[in-house]
Amino acid sequence: MTESHKAPTALPLRVGVSACLLGQNVRYDGKHKHNDFLLQQLGPHVIWVPVCPEVEMGLGTPREPIRLEGTLHAPRLKTHNTRIDHTEAMLKWSQQRLDALEFETLSGYIFKSRSPSCGLFQIPVLQQDGSECSEGRGLFAQALTQRWPMLPVLEEASLQSRKALENFRNRMYEYHHRKTSS
Ligand code: SF4
Repeated sequence: MTESHKAPTALPLRVGVSACLLGQNVRYDGKHKHNDFLLQQLGPHVIWVPVCPEVEMGLGTPREPIRLEGTLHAPRLKTHNTRIDHTEAMLKWSQQRLDALEFETLSGYIFKSRSPSCGLFQIPVLQQDGSECSEGRGLFAQALTQRWPMLPVLEEASLQSRKALENFRNRMYEYHHRKTSS
């Protein structure tokens, strides 16, 4: 589902977003994480391009929760109890999805925080000794930021003030301007 809202004075930017933030029931528990502030404040100025890595790669809803395990450098994406390793599938799917997103001409991306797929910062990685390192990044977020290192990206948790939102919007307009004028 893609929502489209036009701002009265500016070109609507195309913005990638974790689908659960738009209210889509794609989370492991079959629920969503609709973000009122984000949708009300930014929604009128953008065209959303929703992505749910876990559902789109075929894990279904509801599903067993997954987490990052192993090393910070090359974490594995595994189910909690059944120990199924989805790492290779997620990495392969991510590259294919990013190929498709090339045609969306995104000007920014907003990730759901605390997700082993979408989280940008401080995602727990369970180490072999049972301790947790909180410096991980979700696998899809990692793939996207590697492919487009200059694209403005944020977690929704960082966008809870009008000032932060305005800064992000300005960064996206600058990025869009650079891309379209080069
Ligand atoms: S955080 Fe990402 S993978 Fe998890 S439900 Fe939301 S969009 Fe899907």
